[in-house]
Amino acid sequence: MADLDTFRQETRDWLVKNAPPAIVGVASSDLEGNWGGKKATYAVPEMKTWLEIMGARGWTAPTWPKEYGGGGLSPAEAKVLAQEMAKLRIPPPLIGFGLTMIGPTLLQFGTDAQKREHLPKICRGEIRWCQGYSEPGAGSDLAGLQARGVIEGDHMTITGTKVWTSYADKSDWIFALVRTDPAAKKQEGISFVLIDMATPGVSVRPILLISGASPFCETHFENVRVPLANVVNGLNRGWTVAKALLGHERSMIADAFGGGGGGQRTSRGSALLRLARKHVATDGERIADRVLRDRIAQEELDTRAFALTVQRARDAAKAGHQPGPESSIFKVYATELNQRRHELMVQAAGPAALGWEGPGFGDEELELTRDWLRSRGNSIEGGTSEVQLNIIAKRVLGLPD
Ligand SMILES: Cc1cc2nc3c(=O)[nH]c(=O)nc-3n(C[C@H](O)[C@H](O)[C@H](O)COP(=O)(O)OP(=O)(O)OC[C@H]3O[C@@H](n4cnc5c(N)ncnc54)[C@H](O)[C@@H]3O)c2cc1C
Repeated sequence: MADLDTFRQETRDWLVKNAPPAIVGVASSDLEGNWGGKKATYAVPEMKTWLEIMGARGWTAPTWPKEYGGGGLSPAEAKVLAQEMAKLRIPPPLIGFGLTMIGPTLLQFGTDAQKREHLPKICRGEIRWCQGYSEPGAGSDLAGLQARGVIEGDHMTITGTKVWTSYADKSDWIFALVRTDPAAKKQEGISFVLIDMATPGVSVRPILLISGASPFCETHFENVRVPLANVVNGLNRGWTVAKALLGHERSMIADAFGGGGGGQRTSRGSALLRLARKHVATDGERIADRVLRDRIAQEELDTRAFALTVQRARDAAKAGHQPGPESSIFKVYATELNQRRHELMVQAAGPAALGWEGPGFGDEELELTRDWLRSRGNSIEGGTSEVQLNIIAKRVLGLPD
């Protein structure tokens, strides 16, 4: 404990000395550049400096081994670092699929050469990753995917189409599933491949969403040559890797919507409460409408309880526990919580939430409707709620088919 107290004090001193003042308290909506990569643009330029400082220390990935660019911290030390950053209102220097999805998967399944090649670049935020799983005919039935990888010597040639590829247009590399043995049972003929998006034959086309933004793309592969050294866990053994990565993805989604990111509070309460106080009648500090007040209180209680549960799972993950099928429970709960929160926000704002663009509405109001519409996708991305309920029934509760 004494060691941990010393570590806490040293960490706090280091953060105070090294964090650029301009990044303190930066809102999550201004963290776009934090995804890193060659095409990163920073709403707050000092965030780039912060990424470089933390990347050099390995504290973008605090628990990853130092030899792969991480901080080599113990789970307890990493928790102290996160706590001190939160107290000082210092935002994370780096977020994204490198840290949360492909990095942990490579740590588990990658060869030493793959780890040495990719993990340090993830830690320094040099490369942004996207995910090439879904296809026009393979979403929930992911193992039905058709993108083909034909082996030719020490390369494979990939042809096929991936869809709903989040941020493909902003990413440098993609981790993708391709069929390398069409004769095998469908789960057994799949390989997990790392592909440089700059390889000839890769093209992306943004897709417009109901929220008005285009965060994801259709990604097409036309005779794309990829070295076999980029196959993770060996040819035709990609399904195991794919499932492990989905566990990390579902934990990340739960963390973002229900744990760390969901319903963040300031001294004036959650965003939901602040919004309600602004738009509906109050009785002192209280929302006057009893029904709305009750629904907001329930949402806040559920969010708080869930955040604590996620924290417990996060601690277990730092101690080396790989997320299993139970991550599906978190995914369903977190996404439903987030959707409920956005519905309440729109309801509380009333007519102020009807704006789409143009004058007459503030920036926060214009974002409300779009964020609410975006939240509809939460129960689809990373595997739909129905599919998660099937996983929970079969693999957590052990119910028969
Ligand atoms: C915002 C967002 C971001 C995404 N980002 C990515 C990404 O970066 N990379 C990527 O590869 N994919 C991504 N996806 C795709 C996502 O993984 C798929 O949309 C999802 O797996 C569902 O597949 P589908 O759209 O083909 O729907 P379908 O599989 O066609 O499902 C249609 C409906 O049928 C239901 N259904 C299907 N099978 C069953 C079953 N066995 N039992 C009960 N109900 C069933 C589903 O629940 C759903 O309601 C993203 C999706 C969204 C919405």
